[in-house]
Amino acid sequence: MRRLLPPVVAVAVALLAVVGAGTVAFNPADKVREFDPNRALNFAKQVCKLGPRYGGNDAELKAADMMERELRKYGLNVWKEKVDLGGGKHTYNVIAEIKGTREPDKYVIVGSHIDSPGFCEGATDDAAAMGIQVEMARVLAKNFRPKKTVLIIGFGGEELWFKGSEAFVKKHPDIVKNCVAMIDLNCVGAGENVFLTRRSAKPSPVEGDPNLIRTLERCARELGHPVTVGDTTYPSDTYPFYHNKIRRVPVCQVMNQPFKVPPWSGSNTADKLDPKDMEKTGETVTLAVVKLSNAEPAAKPLWEEQRERQRAQQRGWFTPVWWAVALAGPLILAIARRGLAR
Ligand SMILES: [Zn+2]
Repeated sequence: MRRLLPPVVAVAVALLAVVGAGTVAFNPADKVREFDPNRALNFAKQVCKLGPRYGGNDAELKAADMMERELRKYGLNVWKEKVDLGGGKHTYNVIAEIKGTREPDKYVIVGSHIDSPGFCEGATDDAAAMGIQVEMARVLAKNFRPKKTVLIIGFGGEELWFKGSEAFVKKHPDIVKNCVAMIDLNCVGAGENVFLTRRSAKPSPVEGDPNLIRTLERCARELGHPVTVGDTTYPSDTYPFYHNKIRRVPVCQVMNQPFKVPPWSGSNTADKLDPKDMEKTGETVTLAVVKLSNAEPAAKPLWEEQRERQRAQQRGWFTPVWWAVALAGPLILAIARRGLAR
């Protein structure tokens, strides 16, 4: 017995160490650092190549399709919602969902806009944000399972006074009622600091939620990224989430400032985007989403889970029950024929 004890104790200690290491080893910030700014940058460049995306033109609709396709790759539920722009024109909101495991009726939203100013390719406004979103979707789907539902949304028609986000808020009052945070990425990808908007002025004031700002600030610090809080002119797609008849959602517009290139200018081209700045904002917002949605570690990537589900469904067709059904027909026929022959 005495001789047995030391090995038993050793094994127990080893097991405890492994389990302990497993729990300690899950540091969300480490997983968030898998954010690859070059993937984000490449997607933003593809969007810029479409040219100005404005007023529901071809380029804007193509950008929506590109975003939809990219987000599907990572196993998220993705759909588009048509947005009427008036004058017979329309655009789309692109919505990607990671359903919450425990509180699926609570929402954390990350927005951007798929359109650009009418005269330029809008690299920082807002192609870079779309790039950040698709890479954020990959990192989240690979490593995390949020308890609350996470929505990653590209809004159409932002430059026409937030048409897409306004339509979304009208269409989804239940989401607006149950949204714990709406983080909007606007004018990102070329500016030294992660910039958190405390207040914007036009067309009427929007106040960034102090708790949400604090959470984002802490996430930036934890990751070692420079962060500033300040005021700006326009609220972008936070506006309809803040000013509506349903509920004032806690919002924060996230930018990169000071601008290395003015957002509304012909020089706002893809070559001005800085992957370092995209990384700062991408990682900060991804970590904030992990914390706000109380995400847990994922056993495997969402896209693998999706593929396994699809395969299981296909296998469903080849179960013995179906074989029996398939064989029963000819068998009954054969018996009937024999009966007739007699
Ligand atoms: Zn913008």
